[in-house]
Amino acid sequence: MRIVFLGPPGTGKGTQAKVLGKRLGVPAISTGDMLREAVRRETALGRHAKAIMEAGALVPDEVVIGLIRERIASPDAARGFLLDGFPRTIAQAEALEQLLEDNGTPLDRVVNLAVPEANLLDRLLGRCEQEGRSDDRPETVRERLRVYIEKTSPLVAFYEASGLLAHVDGFGSVDDVTDRIERALTRTERTARRA
Ligand code: AMP
Repeated sequence: MRIVFLGPPGTGKGTQAKVLGKRLGVPAISTGDMLREAVRRETALGRHAKAIMEAGALVPDEVVIGLIRERIASPDAARGFLLDGFPRTIAQAEALEQLLEDNGTPLDRVVNLAVPEANLLDRLLGRCEQEGRSDDRPETVRERLRVYIEKTSPLVAFYEASGLLAHVDGFGSVDDVTDRIERALTRTERTARRA
């Protein structure tokens, strides 16, 4: 199972990817978590990424593509993976496609989690208080949403064209949303089998 989770920041993608990863027995891979870990450890990558993340901007494509290339080559990802927060640009999506094509392991599905924008701001600002994430300050949150609309939202059409996309309503409890995602995955599986 190789699945991409798409959706704006604050949709609960990360939570869903982790829950579903456990159920499916594959790792949930988050470039955001990998970058935050690098910042925490003060590695060269972390020092490079810190200011970019705090500004709500995107780390350069080649940097995150390199991280993903290495991560999906690890043994625990051989049976599949859930990608959370990658790809975030068309260039990243094309690089991922090439990488998976070279390995002979194409993507199975892309889940697009959607919640109304007003709820996104509430969720992100709430998380800001709970977790103290330095990129959850109000001005950074607004910039992250703007960057999502400009750079990442075109991926919805990109994956729609490939027939891999499943739209899922991300509003509601964690359990409700997980159930919806599982249903959507089964649905696309049936549709894909018919095709
Ligand atoms: P996330 O936890 O996925 O919201 O990511 C937090 C921050 O890490 C983002 O706002 C970006 O600065 C950076 N980041 C994470 N994933 C990517 C990516 N695929 N491309 C570029 N920057 C990323």
